Formats: sequence, C-alpha cells, structure tokens
Amino acid sequence: MTPELAHDLKAAVRTIPDYPKPGIMFRDITTLLGDPRAFRRAVDELVQPWAGSKIDKVAGIEARGFIIGGAIAHQVSSGFVPIRKKGKLPHTCVSMEYALEYGTDIIEIHVDALQPGERVILVDDLIATGGTAEGAIKLLRHIGAEVVAACFIVDLPDLGGAAKIRSMGVPVRTLVEFGGH
Ligand code: AMP
Repeated sequence: MTPELAHDLKAAVRTIPDYPKPGIMFRDITTLLGDPRAFRRAVDELVQPWAGSKIDKVAGIEARGFIIGGAIAHQVSSGFVPIRKKGKLPHTCVSMEYALEYGTDIIEIHVDALQPGERVILVDDLIATGGTAEGAIKLLRHIGAEVVAACFIVDLPDLGGAAKIRSMGVPVRTLVEFGGH
C-alpha cells in the first residue's frame, strides 16, 4: 500500500471522542464506507495478499463486519457467513464465549455454515484487544474451518489484538493504525 493511500484511508475514518462512554475514542468507519473510492480501495487492499488463492467463505462479525465482509466475499468470489451475537441466528448454532474489556459475551455461527476443511477469511471493521476475533477464530476452528487470514480496516496496536491473533497462527491484515485506544 502506498503512503498516500494509507493517508487517505486514515483520513476517511472519523473519530468520535467519548463514545460510547468517556475516555473511548470511537473510530467510526461509516465515513469511509460512504466514500466510494475509499470503500473500494479498502476492500481491494484488504484481500490483496489472497487475491490468487482459493477462499471458500468470508466470515463477517456483526455488524460492521457484515458490510466489509460482504464486499470482500464478492471480490474473492466466495460465500459469506455471518457471526452474530447470541440469539440472532435462526437455525441451530454453535456458540463461543469470548472476553470483553469487562466481562464476557457470546457469539454464534450456524452449525452448517461451513464444511470441514473450508478456507475462510475472517473480517471485522476494527481490532482492539482481539477478544472478539479470538472468539470468532475458535468458533470457526471448532466447526472445522481453516482460518486463512483475519482482516480489519482499523488496528489499535497498543491494545495488542493483532499480535494475539498472529500468535494463534492466523495472518492478520490491517490498513489503518491509531495509537492509544
Ligand atoms: P476487541 O474484541 O477488543 O478487539 O474489540 C473489537 C470490536 O469492538 C469490534 O467489533 C469493533 O467494532 C469494536 N470496537 C472496539 N473498540 C472500538 C473503537 N475504539 N472504535 C470503534 N469500534 C471499536
């Protein structure tokens, strides 16, 4: 990625201080999604390392991961699989508890969303502590998927999430970094 593109993508992400609570800098990607050129280039850049490889499914994490993941699935000619908060998916699910900053939550995937051995790219808008992505990778591996990569538009490297996911043996691709949290 050129420095100019990195600069343009970072400029397309809006920061909202103290949302949803005091002290949080919310990195809002809706401005990037609303910019046709930035949206297209972000999708192209995220999948660039896997452009020539066979990808069976893209798994997107609710809710912003659905938007980016759907575009990526179209780009790599794969299927799309939603990973959702507990109770949202209609068919039989597999569940996984994962760590939040305070406490835990549960994400789910349809039990038949993937066949064992299928090659999957995991997608979300942002990686912070990596707790959500770690839970999603465990879920995907539990139903037999091979997690080829995890892609995020925004990385908050000071929170260590990308390093945590790499230590699980999953390559991580991110486009924009913000210091702090
Ligand atoms: P984590 O599990 O700590 O990596 O958090 C990642 C999830 O929380 C993603 O689904 C993000 O959309 C959301 N998130 C965490 N921190 C922020 C932030 N500063 N700005 C926007 N979204 C965030």
